[in-house]
Amino acid sequence: MNKKILIILFAALVCVAFVLGIVIFVVSVGQSHNSPVTPTEEPYATPEQATEQPTEEPSFTEEPTATPEPGPLAGLIIGIDPGHQRIANNDKEPCAPWEASKNSQINNQTMKTKTASGTSGKFTHVDEYVAVLDISLKIKAHLEALGATVVMTRETADVNLSNIDRAEICNNANCHVALRIHCNGADNPAVKGVEAWVRGNGDGSDEYKALGAYEKKLAEGLLTYFAEATGAAKRNVNTSDNYTGLNWSTVPSIIVECGFMSNEEEDNLLVSPEYQEKIAKGVADWATAFAGTLRSR
Ligand SMILES: [Zn+2]
Repeated sequence: MNKKILIILFAALVCVAFVLGIVIFVVSVGQSHNSPVTPTEEPYATPEQATEQPTEEPSFTEEPTATPEPGPLAGLIIGIDPGHQRIANNDKEPCAPWEASKNSQINNQTMKTKTASGTSGKFTHVDEYVAVLDISLKIKAHLEALGATVVMTRETADVNLSNIDRAEICNNANCHVALRIHCNGADNPAVKGVEAWVRGNGDGSDEYKALGAYEKKLAEGLLTYFAEATGAAKRNVNTSDNYTGLNWSTVPSIIVECGFMSNEEEDNLLVSPEYQEKIAKGVADWATAFAGTLRSR
């Protein structure tokens, strides 16, 4: 064999090796793509995914964020006190923290029942402590869905909490507002509607009166939104020094009397889950509308 043939043979061998190399590479790459061994790494896009995912690389700003938008009530702490409990506590406690020199009518010498038994449905025979807990838990769910932090004084009927205890739970939690949820009763079965109670003159200080005036403004708004959501008749915002739960509150506090269990129509409504949802919606609408006011204090 001469030199020329050897060179040609060598060149042919190099070509064959090169082509073989390419073939092996292509086959191996093709197999790794089609391999069913690791399907989670390379899922085939469903039609939805295909439309959602643009073919070009998405920028980081287009990626969905892991943390959801804060709700309109974010940062607000709202106390809810469902009135009464399964077993009343007839022991006494001082109705107010201030001395007799500050208010001769109601003061720390005025002793009142720790937890009264409350009213009950004249037609449904449901106890007030049951109805107001159902209503309160629905209010809690609505407020939390909007981002509020809700502090409940009770989530069961089997507690022993005096009115001072209930006030102090909301005081210690630094609530922006505390709502005391109750239902009403009256001798006249025709009386119906939603009303509220806020503190009276208390110890007579300017600070106390300013807190009362602020509560009155909040409560007026609350009755408006409550009535709007439920169709209930809007009654008055009243003031009184007689409520231990209000007198001991250092945070803004409102007694909401959701309706009259002595009125047949309202008695039936107050224990119905649908109406209770409407109440919760009304309270949530109010809290949303007053969120700025509540935060500013
Ligand atoms: Zn009550």
